[in-house]
Amino acid sequence: MTTEHLTDLRAVAREYADVLRASALDLDRDPSLAAALLDRGLPWRQLVGLPAEYNPDPLRVRGRPVHLQSCVEQVTLLEELARADAGAVLALPGPSMSGFVIAELADADQRDRYWSTVAAAPTWTFFGMTEPAHGSDPGSMGTTLRPADGGGLLLAGTKRYVGNGARARLGVVFARRHAGPLGVLAVLVDTDRPGFTAVPLPTLGLRGLQLSELRMAEVPIADEDVLGRHKSATRQGMWAATRTFNRYRPVVSALALGVAQAGYDLVVAERRDLRTGERHLLADWAQRLAGTRAVVLAAARSADRNPGDGTLASAAKVRATRLAEEITTSAVRLLGPGARWDHPLLDKLVRDARAFEFMEGTGNIQRLTLAQGYLQGRLGDARAA
Ligand SMILES: Cc1cc2nc3c(=O)[nH]c(=O)nc-3n(C[C@H](O)[C@H](O)[C@H](O)COP(=O)(O)OP(=O)(O)OC[C@H]3O[C@@H](n4cnc5c(N)ncnc54)[C@H](O)[C@@H]3O)c2cc1C
Repeated sequence: MTTEHLTDLRAVAREYADVLRASALDLDRDPSLAAALLDRGLPWRQLVGLPAEYNPDPLRVRGRPVHLQSCVEQVTLLEELARADAGAVLALPGPSMSGFVIAELADADQRDRYWSTVAAAPTWTFFGMTEPAHGSDPGSMGTTLRPADGGGLLLAGTKRYVGNGARARLGVVFARRHAGPLGVLAVLVDTDRPGFTAVPLPTLGLRGLQLSELRMAEVPIADEDVLGRHKSATRQGMWAATRTFNRYRPVVSALALGVAQAGYDLVVAERRDLRTGERHLLADWAQRLAGTRAVVLAAARSADRNPGDGTLASAAKVRATRLAEEITTSAVRLLGPGARWDHPLLDKLVRDARAFEFMEGTGNIQRLTLAQGYLQGRLGDARAA
């Protein structure tokens, strides 16, 4: 992937910034407006990474079709869209995280079922891992799959903080079928099944994403809903979840970076007369934005090469999250008393930046992954990326 191609892709993404920015505060106030966003001319099919066979009219960069199947292309495009509004990017219909699980585990029929639904009309999907009592720790997962009397399985449990859950048409749920690390399976669930309900949760940051709680009371699961059933026991739910996290963390990092860049842009636009110290601070931010962009790109290259290694993805997430928090909170100070009141967009950026700390694992967990990668000598490979 050449630098020129990525620069052109970034420029194409910028063409959609106005549409996203114009609706940012409305969507923040009312996340149910996600569907209305599409009426404003946003070509969602071109922006969410549909496979070529399900998208006859892809994004074009200098006339060349771009299907956004690589992490490198995704981080480039999505950072620029998130610079306009990260909440709107996450509120787009499409595969989001569940698409990665499908790529890892689905057989041909499941793949077609998933993608033909997602591509046909604006369709939201979800990735259901985190639980109210156990967080995202798979070892203590309480959601279960048990055999049903008449055949098939029954899915029972609660998932919380699941993006787009309440407006999704289908998604992937992780649940325990047997004890032990290999006992977690991923299943493809249609949300109109009996026993399935989803409700939006009240949130402060990235409100467009509409975090939700999924309640599953003996939802019937057929054999053909079980993802990875044609794979070996070691290539099941948690194996795919780990690779999905490694693959999606550079994307989350790019979204955080977009928020950091938006905070920087806002200060530059609103504060003309800077004192010497403030000029230095802005110069420092500009350098760190560029440095973090390079780390995110390296993490994306590493994820494209080997989604089994999340070392650089964790480094990118820690760095981008910290920068987004720092720039947005310092921007409040730089723009003076009442800044969050006078600049509603800044108020939103401050709240959005906070959400990235928890999304896809906290900073402490990323630092542990980074340390393990370092101790196992994986940073050398990562640098080569
Ligand atoms: C915007 C957003 C979107 C999300 N989307 C989804 C989604 O679509 N699907 C989904 O399933 N979930 C989703 N989540 C949930 C998210 O993935 C989890 O909340 C996140 O992974 C943290 O996991 P946890 O809640 O188990 O917290 P924990 O990992 O238990 O962390 C709790 C606290 O303990 C600390 N901690 C934990 N372990 C250690 C350790 N070993 N050493 C030191 N400190 C430690 C952490 O740093 C943190 O401060 C989303 C969350 C947010 C905020």
